Amino acid sequence: MIPNQRRWDYDVIRDIFNRRDSELMFQIPLSSRRASDEWYWLADPKGIYSVRSCYKLLDSINEPPDSCIWCKIWKLEVPAKVKNFIWRAVANVVPTTDNLIQRRVEVNSICPICNASNESLLHILVKCPFAKTCWLLSLVGFVGGCTNFGVWLENLFTRCSSADCNIVAMICWSLWINRNGKVWRNKFGRVSTILNMAGQHLFQWQQAKKNIFIIYEPAALNHGSMYWERPREGWFKCNIDAVTFHSRGKVSFGAVISCSEGRFFAAKCTPLLGHFRAREAEAQGVR
Ligand SMILES: [Zn+2]
Repeated sequence: MIPNQRRWDYDVIRDIFNRRDSELMFQIPLSSRRASDEWYWLADPKGIYSVRSCYKLLDSINEPPDSCIWCKIWKLEVPAKVKNFIWRAVANVVPTTDNLIQRRVEVNSICPICNASNESLLHILVKCPFAKTCWLLSLVGFVGGCTNFGVWLENLFTRCSSADCNIVAMICWSLWINRNGKVWRNKFGRVSTILNMAGQHLFQWQQAKKNIFIIYEPAALNHGSMYWERPREGWFKCNIDAVTFHSRGKVSFGAVISCSEGRFFAAKCTPLLGHFRAREAEAQGVR
């Protein structure tokens, strides 16, 4: 501006800025008053910045609610932990090695599953040969050609039914759990294991939501099914279970007492130091 004249210095602005920027600057109206400049937040009537007004502003300029990927994620009919994982995955805040390296954490960048490419979210959940086989053998099929996991998921959600979207979320989650198993315990499943885990987990969760009580027993153990029964009239029933932590020299047991109407009466959960077998630990629980 030209000092004391309340108008732009056109020559100086054209010398310093390119044509586009200088034209934009000339469109800024100048006050006729001799007031000093001050900051003014447009999203607030008083011009005062607040996180609340910023949130409202960002909310208003977002895509229409029904078309955004976030709304589709919130509408998924999957366990909350899976929904949470998908949300973190689309926000790209999952601790994959590329994200860790970006935050200056020293880790091996190679994918722990195929040992052939650098690990990224898109790689571990989609492009890794193992993940690719999972998708090919799933109901959904393989969809490639994206450079970003969020875009890939949105693409898939657009073409899938809501039931298939649930399956997609479950498979992504199972692939991540499998990857963590390989990284932390050097254990990982086969393709069929991943698909079964995704399908079975979803099925059991959906059944639980319908209030159907199913006790799942792995067939290999051949224990048969178990059903809980109410105690006789005027009696209480106490169910006890224990878990042993041999490496830590510790056991933990829990007990639940129910009345003859089948309602919860009391519960207790206590750790105990010592080396006990499972039966002994349960006996400690009875005491
Ligand atoms: Zn890989």
